[in-house]
Amino acid sequence: MSQTTDNKRPLEVAQGVYQIELPTPFSVGPVNVYLIMGSELTLVDVGPYTPAAWDALVSGLELLGCQLGDVRQVVLTHHHVDHCGLLKKVKAASGALSFAHPLAVPYVEMDQTFMEHHNQFFYHLYRESGVPQKMMAVIEKFYQLMQTFCQPAGIDGLLKHDRPLPGLPEWQVLYTPGHSQSHLSLYRSSDQVLIGGDHILKRISSNAFIEPPRDPSQARALTLVQYRTALQMCADMDIELVLPGHGELVTNHRELISARLQRNWERTGVLRRLLQDGQKTAYELSALLFPDLYEKELALTLSETVGHIDLLTILHQVEREQRDGILYYSL
Ligand SMILES: [Zn+2]
Repeated sequence: MSQTTDNKRPLEVAQGVYQIELPTPFSVGPVNVYLIMGSELTLVDVGPYTPAAWDALVSGLELLGCQLGDVRQVVLTHHHVDHCGLLKKVKAASGALSFAHPLAVPYVEMDQTFMEHHNQFFYHLYRESGVPQKMMAVIEKFYQLMQTFCQPAGIDGLLKHDRPLPGLPEWQVLYTPGHSQSHLSLYRSSDQVLIGGDHILKRISSNAFIEPPRDPSQARALTLVQYRTALQMCADMDIELVLPGHGELVTNHRELISARLQRNWERTGVLRRLLQDGQKTAYELSALLFPDLYEKELALTLSETVGHIDLLTILHQVEREQRDGILYYSL
């Protein structure tokens, strides 16, 4: 009990919205979860399944004069473990209902059939991208990460774009895919506040992770194209304040979005230059784009590379040729 005196009371970052910072073991640093004091006490995101995040969550609530038992509902911005890992534990301690986008469900529940499809999808994508066989083991890492930092949990209600948030009708659900296929943001028009998850971050440019389609017979989403569109949607909105999933509050969302879109464009320029001396695979391009990272962070760098190739492909600025199941790109 006495340890709570060492901690700072979570800040009220918007009217009735409190930011609780939780540690994560990931390079992104701490994650911000938000407590909305409204007709239904609502927690937006819960942090990773680690003892340190749990302790910080419990003590953050205590400092606000609440307990987990008071939380009536949990909303997930997306299914990544730094945001959803503690859901099962929070639900067990509070009896709260959980809400998320439908595409978060197979991840949060850790549906075995979906996880197998997930691995097959990446095996095919990596093979076609020219990833060497010895590096395919990285595919299994995703599930291992899920198992370590997330306990499978149930989702009680599904959220869709443009609907009011259950229990808190002043908040509107926005579907903001790209960083994740399940990504939601919450918008309160009365004071133009957006709880933005990892959609808009101040210091980090969010990766538009490639994900398998929910239905294996469908093609994958072009996640970077999607991300850019969802960013543009927010740039077209009046937003006074973004409450982000990581790092500092954002008060200049249009400037930030414009910089992100510009940076994508610069990167397509780099890819085009890299293709000037002949055709290359996505893996070869990722090694040239991210020489220090591509081996250590294959999933991230390949997503980033394939995403930018997608941009160039839909604009007919690159061509591709398939040989032995591997795609080669050229100008
Ligand atoms: Zn995150």
